Amino acid sequence: MNAVMGKILWVDLTAGTCEVQEIPEKVYEKMLSGMGLAAYILYQRIPVGADPLGPENVLGFVSGLLTGTGSLMSGRWMAAAKSPLTHTWGDANCGGSLSPAIKQCGYDGIFFTGMSPRPVYLYVGHGKAELVDAEGVWGKDCRETEQALKAQYEGKTVSVACIGPAGEKLSLIAGISNDEGRMAARSGLGAVMGAKKLKALVLQGAHRIPVYDEARVKQLSEGFNRWISFQPPFLNGTLMGLLGTSMRWLPLQMRQDGLLYKVLLSKWGTVSMNQYSIETGDSPIKNWDGSCAEFNFKRSSSINPDRFRERELVKYHCYSCPLGCGGMCTIKKGSKEETHKPEYESVLAFGGMLMNEDLDSLFEINEKLNRAGMDSISAGGTVAFAFECYEKGLITRDDTGGLELTWGNTAAILKLVDLMIARDGIGDLLADGSRAAARRMQKQAEAYAVTAGGQELAMHDGRNDPGFALHAVVEPTPGRHTIGSYLYYEMFQLWTKVKRLPKVRWLFYPKGSKYTADREKAIWAAACSQFTDLINGCGLCLFAGLVGVNRLPIFEWLNAATGWEKTPEEYMQIGLNIHLVRQAFNAREGLALKAPINERALGRPPAQKGANRGRSVLLEELVPMYWKEMGLDETNGHPTAAAMAAIGLPELVQAPAKAA
Ligand code: SF4
Repeated sequence: MNAVMGKILWVDLTAGTCEVQEIPEKVYEKMLSGMGLAAYILYQRIPVGADPLGPENVLGFVSGLLTGTGSLMSGRWMAAAKSPLTHTWGDANCGGSLSPAIKQCGYDGIFFTGMSPRPVYLYVGHGKAELVDAEGVWGKDCRETEQALKAQYEGKTVSVACIGPAGEKLSLIAGISNDEGRMAARSGLGAVMGAKKLKALVLQGAHRIPVYDEARVKQLSEGFNRWISFQPPFLNGTLMGLLGTSMRWLPLQMRQDGLLYKVLLSKWGTVSMNQYSIETGDSPIKNWDGSCAEFNFKRSSSINPDRFRERELVKYHCYSCPLGCGGMCTIKKGSKEETHKPEYESVLAFGGMLMNEDLDSLFEINEKLNRAGMDSISAGGTVAFAFECYEKGLITRDDTGGLELTWGNTAAILKLVDLMIARDGIGDLLADGSRAAARRMQKQAEAYAVTAGGQELAMHDGRNDPGFALHAVVEPTPGRHTIGSYLYYEMFQLWTKVKRLPKVRWLFYPKGSKYTADREKAIWAAACSQFTDLINGCGLCLFAGLVGVNRLPIFEWLNAATGWEKTPEEYMQIGLNIHLVRQAFNAREGLALKAPINERALGRPPAQKGANRGRSVLLEELVPMYWKEMGLDETNGHPTAAAMAAIGLPELVQAPAKAA
C-alpha cells in the first residue's frame, strides 16, 4: 500500500496493553485515512449510548493520507471521540509536528479505549509501544509537560501531545496540546484524555512513508509552492480594516479569491482578519448582541494586525507548510516571556465579544489557555455568557466573589479565566461551557448561551454569511466553523475540477442574494461538507483548500501518492462517505441532526444596527435542501440505508452494539 502505513495501534488503558491492527486497503480507498479512518473505527467500536467520559469511549489520534508523502500543507492531525461537550461525534484538528510522527511510528492512527487506574502516558518508539507512569507530570501545564517529557528523551526527536489542568479537571471545553500550546481545541476531547488518565503521547519514529510516484508528487508540490510564494509588498493593517468598512457599505459583492487570503496569512497569520471581520459583520460582538457600531473602528484599532506583528519574534510553519501562518511573540512589549501568536478566534472571543480593547490581556489570556489546555473559542464564549448574565442580574457579585463582570473590564476577564482553569468558585460553574452553566442556572440563562448543539459558536456570524450558520447545525460536530460557508465555496473553486458544481460569478453580484434560500446555496453547502471531509481525510490544512483547487493539486497528489486513478468526482464521493459515517454515528445516538442553535445567531429578532442590521438566516428552508443535495433523508438528515450500503464496506451497515 502506498501513502499509508496500513496499520493502527490499539491501546487498552484498563488492561495496560497495546495491540496492532492491520487495515485493509479497501478501507483507505473508501474512507482515506485521517478523519475517514477515525470515522471507520469509532463507528464500529463506540457502543450506542456510551458515556463520553467512561471506558467505552474510544479516543483516536490520526494522521492524514497525504501526510509525509511530499505534498505540501498536509501535516494536520486530528483527534476524535464521542464528545463530552455535545454528546455527538466529536473531533478536533491541529497543526504542528504530531501528524508525521504518528506515521513515522508505523501507524495511521493510535486509538485508546478503557481507563487507566493511574496517570500514564504512551511512549512509541524504537519498535516498542508502552504505557509509562505519568505521576511526575500530572498537574503540570501543557508547556511544562511537553518540556519535561522531551527532556526525558533528551537528544532525540520526539513529538508530544498532552493535556493540561483543564483536561485533568475534566473541563468539558478542554483541548489537547502539541508543540507547547498549539491546540486541538474543539469538542472537549481533552476531558476524554483526562477521564482516561492519559496525560500524553510521546512519539519517536523513523519509518519511511511509501509513495507511489515521488517524482510526480514533487513536481506537483513545486507548482503549488509557486502560488504560495507570491507576496505583494504594499499591504498594511489599517488598509485591511478600511477594506472591511468599504465592503460593508457596498451593495455589491465580488467573488472572493483565496489567493488574497493566502497573502494575508503569510504576512500576519489569522489575525489579519481582525478589523476586517468586525467591519464586515463576520465577527460577533458583545456576546452576539452588539456590532461594529459599538466596537467601532477606533476601538477595534486596538487589534489591528500590525500590532501583533510588532510583537512577533519569529514566524513558524507546520510540518510541510511553506506558508507559515504561525509565530512566537512577546507577551508584553519589552517582556522576555513568549507566547504563540494568538489566533483570530482567540482575539475576537476575548476582544470584541467582551468589548475588551486591552491588547496585553489578549496575549496573556492566550498563554493561560494554551498552558491550561482549554479551548479559547468556548472559553471566550462562556465568559461573554457570564458577563451578559451579570448584566441581566442572573449572576450577582455574591456569585462572582466580588468581581464586577462589566463589559470591557479586563481585570475581571483575566480573573474569570483563572477561576475557570482552576475550577474555583464561579469558575467551576463555567468550566464546562455556557450550555452546561445555563442548565444549572435559571431558565432565562439559556438565551445567552450562544452555542450550536452545546458548543460555543466560533467567531464567524451566520447573519453575515448564512453558510456558517447552516454548517454549524448540520455538521456532525456542531458549532464548527472550519467546514463550510458561502465564502469558502467561492474560495475552494471546486467547479474548476468538479464539473457538476456551479461557478460563482467573478465580478460583482448583489450582496442581498446571499440572504435568500435556494437550491444553489444548498449545492454549495453540500460541496463544502464533502470537500472539507476529504481535506480532513488527507490531513491537509483548510487554508490550503482556500487557495482553490485550481492551484491546490489535491486530487492529483492523491493519485500520485497512492497509485490510484480516481477522478475529482470520485474523491468528492469519498468525502461524502466520511460525512455519512460521522452523521450515522449521531443518528444512531438518537440525536437531532439539525443541532439546536441560539436564535440570536440566526438574527431572530434581527439586529437593529451594525453590518448585519435587519438580516435573518432562513435556516428552516436551507436545511432540508442541504440534506437533499447530500443524499440524506430530507425529513431528518439521516443517512439512508442505501447510501450507507453504497460506501461498499459491509462492516459499516451492521447493527451497532449498545453501551453496557
Ligand atoms: S497555513 Fe498555518 S495552520 Fe495551515 S499548515 Fe500552514 S502554518 Fe499550519
